[in-house]
Amino acid sequence: MTNATHPYDALMDITARPKAVFVRGAGSYLWDDSRKRYLDFVQGWAVNCLGHSPPAVADALSAQSRRLLTPSPAFYNEPSLKLAQALVETSCFDRVFFANSGAEANEGAIKLARKFGSVHKGGAFEIITFAGGFHGRTLATMSASGKKAFEPLFEPKVSGFKRATLNDIASVEALVTANTVAVMLEPIQGEAGVWPATDKFLQELRALTKAHGLLLVFDEIQTGMGRTGKLFHYEHAGVAPDIMTLGKGIGGGVPLAALLATEHASCFEHGDQGGTFNGNPVMCAAGLAVLEEVGKPEFLKAVTDAGLLLESELQKVSARHGLGEVRGRGLLLALDLKLPIAPAIVAQAFQEGVLLNAPQVDTLRFMPALNVTREEIAEMIDCLDAILTKAGAARRVA
Ligand SMILES: *Cc1c(COP(=O)(O)O)cnc(C)c1O
Repeated sequence: MTNATHPYDALMDITARPKAVFVRGAGSYLWDDSRKRYLDFVQGWAVNCLGHSPPAVADALSAQSRRLLTPSPAFYNEPSLKLAQALVETSCFDRVFFANSGAEANEGAIKLARKFGSVHKGGAFEIITFAGGFHGRTLATMSASGKKAFEPLFEPKVSGFKRATLNDIASVEALVTANTVAVMLEPIQGEAGVWPATDKFLQELRALTKAHGLLLVFDEIQTGMGRTGKLFHYEHAGVAPDIMTLGKGIGGGVPLAALLATEHASCFEHGDQGGTFNGNPVMCAAGLAVLEEVGKPEFLKAVTDAGLLLESELQKVSARHGLGEVRGRGLLLALDLKLPIAPAIVAQAFQEGVLLNAPQVDTLRFMPALNVTREEIAEMIDCLDAILTKAGAARRVA
């Protein structure tokens, strides 16, 4: 016997969801249980970097699941060794710890920074993060985030975080004390509405953290794995952080995340870090299939080209309808609407079979599959253009 009166009611009601139940996905398209088709520019929140159910990931999952699901996190397994090796070879880092979610990877980054403080910096533990930043939904990562809506929640927070202002190096410098051990940020603030740190600011941060012996931590959970046209965003600015976290795209649709560190920063001792499913072979096999594809120079070039096309099409839409700027890099872009109409546009687009995201009431965010086609971009732009035309006509009548 259950008290739930409808299958929806058996799930905790943690967010507003449309009633459609999604049953199938392929590439840039999703289908619901009434067979309605949707063009997807959300892709599981920038997760499905190769689109829905890509054959390479599905094949890797099915082959590995028949071979070995998990031996134990206290034993080595082949896919996790191979993926760690591949990540080390394609990045500026030397060591990898796999996790099951972005928040868990960031939780690991925070712990690693605090450990570094206790081993190398006389117990320094404070981490400077940024207003508007988002690092996840565990207690420590909510505490590290600079999201206004989180402020009153789940008090008392985890202490030891101080908030600076993005692209303002003086605001960071002013917070550095003998207790500071690290600076942590997203190179592009995704959830806040796609607000990029400038390359110059990232370079200034690297210089400042070096001068004070602090760790520089990049949360590349949204910007990593080719999303911005480079495998990792830090390459754009030519700075090498000490610690980086990956999530979302790295699994191509399955729960996989990673904490990467240089040899110098990699100071966990036995007993400090672990987790039952961390580095399990099935998820790591998916990660290998993703990295093999996304890491190809021609793939990254195509992401850059698709990003430039989407950006210029959004700029044309903005000019036609008198909207604001287009922000972001590669295939992580936002359109500033200058009016609080983003949720209404998302709802209308849903009706018309296009999935969009509104990280803020006046902002649309675009995070399609990294292999999105020109035709799919044109289809989304046509739909958005038509909705904005109708919305504009309605405003003029009102
Ligand atoms: C999504 C996201 C996270 C949290 O990842 P989860 O897998 O949801 O825990 C952390 N940081 C950034 C920048 C993100 O975009």
